[in-house]
Amino acid sequence: MSDNADERTTVAASDETTRVKPVVAVVGRPNVGKSSLVNRIIGRREAVVEDVPGVTRDRVAYDANWQGREFTLVDTGGWETNAKGLAAMVARQAEYAAETADVILFVVDATVGITDEDEAVTRVLRATKRPVVLAANKVDGPLGDADAMELWNLGVGEPYPVSALHGRGIGDLLDAVLDAMPKEPPPLEEAAVDGPRRVALVGRPNVGKSSLLNKLAGEERVVVDSVAGTTRDAVDELVELGGKTWKFIDTAGIRRRFRALQGADYYATMRTATALERAEVAVVLLDASEPLAEQDLRIIDQVIEAGRALVLAFNKWDLLDDERRYYLEKEIDRQLFRVSWAPRVNISAKTGRHVERLVPAIEQGLENWETRISTGRLNAWFKELVSAVPPPARGGRQTKILFATQAGVRPPHFVLFTTGFLEDNYRRFIERRLREDFGFEGTPIKLTMRIRE
Ligand code: GDP
Repeated sequence: MSDNADERTTVAASDETTRVKPVVAVVGRPNVGKSSLVNRIIGRREAVVEDVPGVTRDRVAYDANWQGREFTLVDTGGWETNAKGLAAMVARQAEYAAETADVILFVVDATVGITDEDEAVTRVLRATKRPVVLAANKVDGPLGDADAMELWNLGVGEPYPVSALHGRGIGDLLDAVLDAMPKEPPPLEEAAVDGPRRVALVGRPNVGKSSLLNKLAGEERVVVDSVAGTTRDAVDELVELGGKTWKFIDTAGIRRRFRALQGADYYATMRTATALERAEVAVVLLDASEPLAEQDLRIIDQVIEAGRALVLAFNKWDLLDDERRYYLEKEIDRQLFRVSWAPRVNISAKTGRHVERLVPAIEQGLENWETRISTGRLNAWFKELVSAVPPPARGGRQTKILFATQAGVRPPHFVLFTTGFLEDNYRRFIERRLREDFGFEGTPIKLTMRIRE
């Protein structure tokens, strides 16, 4: 089962730039002190239930850090399995750990010595290619070091004598864990966060982009025609809104007219894509006086694919009568339900109606775009969700969500470590519930899985 343990499949992940922190899984039979060790390492006294067989903990994974290196610490003791017998159960937990972790922290009670269950775990760990660090726990003083040395007999390497209770030996243990971690890749180039927030104003031709820009910039400008296809440098404009300065991206593309020209569609799509690449949030302008068009939906898709925060602005509201308003509501229900999380603002670039409402919508989108949920909290939440509504069984096999971490922000990206594939339906369910409980208005969410089938 473990010969392809190195295979990790990422499904539905289009974002290679989001890295998952290394995972360290703590394994071992009940009562050896896994939870105490976890608490000691994360440096917090979180309410973790005693390490008693059958007692489930409410959390399984935590954010941890040693010498500046961040990692996710997973307490496998909380994983329920249906395996019969203690040895089989701990072996199963170790198996899961081997599947999902980068480093396995194997905890043994040095005062008890090697038990059958420890042997069962060892057999599983020997078969994996994952590095194993052996913690000889409950060595509260130097007298216990001899007990720890007995654990060489397990054959999984050097035992590190520690006392989770008193904190003894933890530093050396963590140094060994760090040594066993995959080499840290060079830091990602993060888009500059400094300076004004970057807004892309996008929408198909004639929806009122340049009218709105003029309204927001507070001045009428002469829009000079230019030949389509000639590449000109993108021109960004700084605009004061709601007491803040915002950078509107590629306003040259907005101000310039290229409609009714050959290839204008393609050109507009490219232009939108480049603007989105540089923006943090997109205001998609729609013409409320006309039926939603295919192109509107494509542009919205582009924003989601680019992973930008999203605000929908329905323009030309001054032209709407009751009948059109009725049909617009229907169109929104039918065609925009996928982005029901995006704030909607009804405006008129012509009269200036409600344009100031764009600002709080943009701000909300950006805030949620950058939201991070701690690993502990996230896993408590998942535990509850999954026990209330477990993933549907496929072919008699129940997929387990072992734990989850948030791999990144801008937009929030969650990675689920699972024992199998999760159906689209169930993933949509998770997204919906995440949105219900954590907000996330105005931002796409990425959900990916790490599985081994
Ligand atoms: P763009 O191609 O998206 O930049 O659209 P424009 O700003 O050039 O606007 C296209 C047309 O719609 C122009 O004739 C504008 O005067 C008109 N327009 C823009 N916004 C509004 C609005 O809120 N109400 C009305 N009635 N007309 C608008």
